[in-house]
Amino acid sequence: MLGGRTNHWGRISLRFGPKDFKGKTRDGHGDDWPIGYDDVKPYYDKLDKLIGLYGTNEGRENDPDGFFLPPPKPRLHELFYIDGAKKSNIPVIPGRLSMLTKKINNERGVCFYCGQCGRSCSVYADFSAGSCLIFPAQKSGGKVKLFVNSMVREVTVNEEGKATGVSYISKEDRKEYKLRGKVVILAASACSSARILLNSKSKEHPNGLGNSSDLVGKYLHDSTGASAAGVIPGLMNRKTSYNEDGTGGMHVYSPWWGDNSKLNFPRGYHIEVWGGMSQPNYGFGWDPNGMNKYFGLKPGGYGESLRDDVKKYYGSVIGFGGRGEGIALKDNYCEIDPTTVDQFGIPVLKFNYQWSDFERNQAKHMQDTFEELIHNMGGTYLGDKPGKDKDYGLHAPGEIIHEVGTTRMGDDPNTSVTNKFNQLHDADNVFIVDAGVFVSQADKNCTWTIMALSWRASDYIIEQLKAQNI
Ligand SMILES: Cc1cc2nc3c(=O)[nH]c(=O)nc-3n(C[C@H](O)[C@H](O)[C@H](O)COP(=O)(O)OP(=O)(O)OC[C@H]3O[C@@H](n4cnc5c(N)ncnc54)[C@H](O)[C@@H]3O)c2cc1C
Ligand code: SF4
Repeated sequence: MLGGRTNHWGRISLRFGPKDFKGKTRDGHGDDWPIGYDDVKPYYDKLDKLIGLYGTNEGRENDPDGFFLPPPKPRLHELFYIDGAKKSNIPVIPGRLSMLTKKINNERGVCFYCGQCGRSCSVYADFSAGSCLIFPAQKSGGKVKLFVNSMVREVTVNEEGKATGVSYISKEDRKEYKLRGKVVILAASACSSARILLNSKSKEHPNGLGNSSDLVGKYLHDSTGASAAGVIPGLMNRKTSYNEDGTGGMHVYSPWWGDNSKLNFPRGYHIEVWGGMSQPNYGFGWDPNGMNKYFGLKPGGYGESLRDDVKKYYGSVIGFGGRGEGIALKDNYCEIDPTTVDQFGIPVLKFNYQWSDFERNQAKHMQDTFEELIHNMGGTYLGDKPGKDKDYGLHAPGEIIHEVGTTRMGDDPNTSVTNKFNQLHDADNVFIVDAGVFVSQADKNCTWTIMALSWRASDYIIEQLKAQNI
């Protein structure tokens, strides 16, 4: 799909911080990246300016400042959140989301606060790769040729083991075609690029392309995640005329604040907050009759009583998503399923992934924090708080959709798949520009870093082509 998941992503656009690139040095777990924040900073800066995001410079050590457009004001539920978080000494800062609150060019409009980003923005005020990168590139004078409805099967190679192009199945006639290229750049997402490499077996690369280290697919990891919601009496019975103008994302959030030396897990998480009277969502995402039970009232009802309940509870629920860092482990991996192919006849992936106690302990910390925040706001935790038997509500691996690490970068070809410029150790004209190259996740969402590294790799490719090295 043109633009991939940026068509419907959340637009939370966070930089990794200096500590995020040096996990092992910090706490002995996982590995360090072969690069540091200073290598990526110029590209984060260029991205901020090209794409645009709102936020504020806060001078926080591991949540770097950038070039931000003015953030929207907190809405009522967010003011309640700020108040609740203050009581627990949890920092709250303006959200950092790639939606334009000010004009940056003539191609894209400014957010008019309809709150419908999930349905794609009619004025291109929010970032998606299609509307903000690919369409403008198409206007650049025939330099971009798109082959859509094409499913890449493998990277083809010559007798020297260098890539010659790709072979793909046309989704229209189901036939196989070949494209030739001097350089092959895979950006199919961390798992799909690993799948293409593993399916690219040849005499020169019998274990799959780029897989002499046997590490393609290994070290797969997703963000940790746990969720909770509370009903807040102070937000009940609100007038529907209250000004809830805002973007289709959070106006404030809490970056990681904890001291891991005093905790039973090594890395942090941030808190994403939702709530308010956004539409159209039936008010609050919960059964309105069922809410009565939290206030000693009779659940159920039709007609007038249902209408009353909807009005009473509309906008009274605040929800939290913790998004954190798990440790990258070699034992968590995807591999080719030897017995299953997709509808195009291409072998699919199967997954082997287990959380460790570090992630479970982190999820417990999230749940305890959410409960405390709800109480600070005078509210009631909705539903049953998940305990040890349910891994404290820790979402299954893959559910947070921040998969990274399957073709990790490094200086040593025995312990990594690409070098620090996203270039395969085993074939120097093949580059991976998705999150496969991540050595570790951070307590941040990964897309801003995918794009910054992709831009950095692009500069390197141009340099190398000019020098006739590839
Ligand atoms: C609902 C949702 C919300 C999210 N919110 C956020 C957020 O707020 N912040 C954040 O940082 N991240 C967020 N993410 C994650 C973010 O969308 C991904 O990290 C990002 O899109 C990954 O970019 P990518 O280009 O590597 O992969 P993708 O966006 O998945 O793009 C890969 C492209 O390659 C194509 N492709 C795959 N295999 C093949 C093949 N064999 N042949 C041809 N084409 C192929 C796919 O069709 C797709 O177009 C969210 C994801 C989802 C689903
Ligand atoms: S809220 Fe989202 S969809 Fe609506 S104008 Fe703003 S960026 Fe566009």
